[in-house]
Amino acid sequence: DDYIIKVNNLKVYFTKGNSLFGKKNVTKALDGVTLTIKNREIMGIVGESGSGKTTLGRVTIGLQKPTEGDVYLKVGQEEINVSKAKLKTISKYVQMIYQDPYSSIDPIMRVYDVLAMPLKYRKEREIEKRIEDAMRLVDLPIELLENRVYQLSGGQRQRLSIARAVIVDPKYIVADEPTTMLDASLKGEILKIIKDAREAKGISFMLITHELPIAKIISDRITVMYLGKIVELGKSSDVIKKPLHPYTQGLIDAYPRIDPSLKDKLKEIKIKVDVIRPNKGCVFHPRCPFAMAKCKEEEPQLKEVYQDHYVACWLY
Ligand code: SF4
Repeated sequence: DDYIIKVNNLKVYFTKGNSLFGKKNVTKALDGVTLTIKNREIMGIVGESGSGKTTLGRVTIGLQKPTEGDVYLKVGQEEINVSKAKLKTISKYVQMIYQDPYSSIDPIMRVYDVLAMPLKYRKEREIEKRIEDAMRLVDLPIELLENRVYQLSGGQRQRLSIARAVIVDPKYIVADEPTTMLDASLKGEILKIIKDAREAKGISFMLITHELPIAKIISDRITVMYLGKIVELGKSSDVIKKPLHPYTQGLIDAYPRIDPSLKDKLKEIKIKVDVIRPNKGCVFHPRCPFAMAKCKEEEPQLKEVYQDHYVACWLY
């Protein structure tokens, strides 16, 4: 079938702690995530810090090995098992765009060299052509090629990092909070460039963000994550207009039942608290204004409530 990334029951556990007291803390960064990203799709992954979204992105490009579960990258007819393949095999097809354009590119390099570096071993004519195309795609003037990276603005640097990612013609790019460090006025431009790259080159994207409105702008579908689990997944328009999970509803301030007694509780969801992971039941129950007895005991599974719209919640 027509996919670029498929993950099956993915688990990534980190063990920290102190064996001196016989106590080890296991952090479940990802806890049973199953997800498919379609060809040419922009999949928004939304969640606060600790939701596992960055770990998920890293696993899909082979930068993090899963504790359990599989990741497949499909290129043409070939299915590559990302967690078993060599990084060199995968890196032909995947790229990452980082949050901070100041630390992800060496500031004293020439812009030209930043773009030429991933193209070494190619013919000069091809290098020039690709650099020109990439600069045009990200809307950077050709004259900047002779400049040093430190002479660029933050917005220009992020454009350059997108150019550097697309220049090798990858099939799939993980963009991890690509607009977080930028002024509001620049966020839209960067998102538009990502969308243009999809249109022009057919690249699939995972767009990781803690801001639902950012995901909404260009994502085809949105996955909402909470404490290492997917709590909701659907077409962007459905998730935004008809959010099903109480956590998603809290994120976009759209609780359908405006019961005044709940208002304060909803505010609590928005305040950054030390998130407690319950031992059993629904992961969200300690923060959920709708929690019922069952929620504390049994874990809800992701299920399709409307066509292509999934939620993990006992309310449905
Ligand atoms: Fe809230 Fe229960 Fe739904 Fe979890 S399962 S989100 S606790 S209502």
